[in-house]
Amino acid sequence: MARYHEGSCRQCRREGDKLFLKGARCLTPKCALERRNYPPGFHTRRVRPSDYGVQLREKQKIKRIYGVLEVPFKNYYIAATKSGEVTGHKLLELLEMRLDNVVYRLGWASSRSQARQIVSHGHIRVGDKKVNVPSYQTKAGQKISLTARGQKSQIISINIKEKHTVPAWIATKPQAAEADIIRPPKREEIDAQVNEQLVIEYYSR
Ligand code: SF4
Repeated sequence: MARYHEGSCRQCRREGDKLFLKGARCLTPKCALERRNYPPGFHTRRVRPSDYGVQLREKQKIKRIYGVLEVPFKNYYIAATKSGEVTGHKLLELLEMRLDNVVYRLGWASSRSQARQIVSHGHIRVGDKKVNVPSYQTKAGQKISLTARGQKSQIISINIKEKHTVPAWIATKPQAAEADIIRPPKREEIDAQVNEQLVIEYYSR
């Protein structure tokens, strides 16, 4: 599985924003951005970015938040443009409805990278089938559940007991091992602090 090789905190420092890639640590004073809020690299100078630079950074930021590399991210963008819906919202909707993100939103994982591991280790079912593809696109009406092995996983058990707000587009009960996707998320239910319009401008150049 292709993934980012740059450390999680370095990615946040490069974007100058908290991307919440490390679970609970991100909410503590140990967060690298709290201590070193400047880009990585000894000789880094802060210069005023061009419009292109701002658009590029926003695209990179969204990719890093969801842990998606360039080619699949562009494919999401192309699918969004062909959807007939508002492109920016559709792009975020496709990212939010990835199976790894749903597992993260349910609180079964403390970060999206942990959610990817949980899915690829075969701990998740969609309907009555085990699915081990993190990028699997969930749909309204589908049931997501933990496999028997998933229910015994210590990491998942610890995560489930943590206080967590599940967005309204997913129906579940506290500490339950299953959930239903009711509908796609509305824009205001996607809590990533991003400006998707800049991504549209980036790809429309
Ligand atoms: Fe980013 Fe979390 Fe590291 Fe802070 S602790 S820099 S939010 S990954």
